[in-house]
Amino acid sequence: MKTTKKILLSEQDMPKAWYNIVADMKNKPLPMLNPGTKQPLRPEEMEPLFAKGLVAQEFTTERYVEIPDEVWQLYKIYRPTPLVRASGLEKALDTPAKIYFKNESVSPVGSHKLNSAIPQAYYNKIEGIKHITTETGAGQWGSAMSIACQHFGLDLQVYMVKVSYDQKPYRKFVMQTYGAEVIPSPSNRTAAGRALLARDPNSSGSLGGAISEAVEAAVTHPDTRYTLGSVLNHVILHQTIIGLEAEKQMDLVGDYPDVVIGCFGGGSNFSGISFPFLRHNFLDGKTTRFIAAEPASCPKLTRGKFEYDFGDTIGMTPLIPMFTLGHDFQPADIHAGGLRYHGAGSIVSQLLKDGLIEAQAVKQLDTFEAGVLFARTEGIIPAPESTHAIAVAIQEALKAKEEGKEKVILFNLSGHGLIDMTAYDSYFSGKLTNYDVPESMIQENVSKLEKLT
Ligand SMILES: *Cc1c(COP(=O)(O)O)cnc(C)c1O
Repeated sequence: MKTTKKILLSEQDMPKAWYNIVADMKNKPLPMLNPGTKQPLRPEEMEPLFAKGLVAQEFTTERYVEIPDEVWQLYKIYRPTPLVRASGLEKALDTPAKIYFKNESVSPVGSHKLNSAIPQAYYNKIEGIKHITTETGAGQWGSAMSIACQHFGLDLQVYMVKVSYDQKPYRKFVMQTYGAEVIPSPSNRTAAGRALLARDPNSSGSLGGAISEAVEAAVTHPDTRYTLGSVLNHVILHQTIIGLEAEKQMDLVGDYPDVVIGCFGGGSNFSGISFPFLRHNFLDGKTTRFIAAEPASCPKLTRGKFEYDFGDTIGMTPLIPMFTLGHDFQPADIHAGGLRYHGAGSIVSQLLKDGLIEAQAVKQLDTFEAGVLFARTEGIIPAPESTHAIAVAIQEALKAKEEGKEKVILFNLSGHGLIDMTAYDSYFSGKLTNYDVPESMIQENVSKLEKLT
């Protein structure tokens, strides 16, 4: 029997609107709070920090939000992305399961991040903003914003988590090539950075700390706004283009996923592939499972607490209702830099609390084993972040084999790993380890948080 390898969508069939799952949630996410007044945050309070168009999307309860034509035209540089039947991996696993993956690694920066960077730069541009600040972990978000800002003629400053700045210099070069200024965080540029360096002069940095610096740099300069690559509702909204395309592509081959998997940093690619399908659980009685794959060394979903917490380390953002390890949590220097974040988005957190999605923690060595198998059977070297999703997909496929059951598995390949080869080198030379997080460390951090009740 002939099987299809790549399922392609034509440009005209690319979705014209993003999907907002908040419209279909029975229990809506709790509001963000102003940390000063403890009152629900009002849109106006976010506008000094974010473009108004993005703030409006942050608060919207509309089911669909139209993709502006200029954004839609730019998406065509790399979208629609292929849906791929992982027939090589299926064969290697000898599984009755069908495995599909959505290949977001085909974007010019090699990850899904451009799906939100383009609209974020667009809304800033049309509102007359001149300068953008942002942070980046492993460099993917910074690279994506660099392209988007270059296209719209915006000047960009990127605070890059120091461990990645040192471990992954190539992404710094990518950002510079697209015209951005890249600063290792913590830095001496901001009061937040200086405070973090005073606490620990050898700090390897964290996403939370870099966010503090980028936020401060935005609010203390004129015509400047901040952008964030994950966690917030508007970012997740933009990423639903992944799942909306995948839905049409699965339709073309007459399959529907029994399980959908995405790796989890702040939740944008997991939500992007999942929410359009979760919509059918809510509205049409489908029973698909959704699994967020997080690193065992940064286990906010599986071992964190659902409380109000800051999105950054210093405490400059609104209070967000989320599963968190506490904003002081300093994750181990694992190679999946994009997953080293202490918290999660409020929508995903509510869905997890209500048992509508699942989470699973994966150990670093297991992720690389899965990544290498995937590279050897499918030909694409996955990003260290994406290997978390692959590891869970493999587990699900092996479970199907044990049970002798057919099952359709869909996961998101959030990015390729061609700029992360030092990580693979460390794995092959036996330098990588698993990291255990002591329960006492989690308890100590979350005990300081704002109580939800
Ligand atoms: C940033 C990133 C992630 C993690 O971020 P999410 O917002 O959770 O998607 C995962 N994979 C890749 C390739 C990334 O660049």
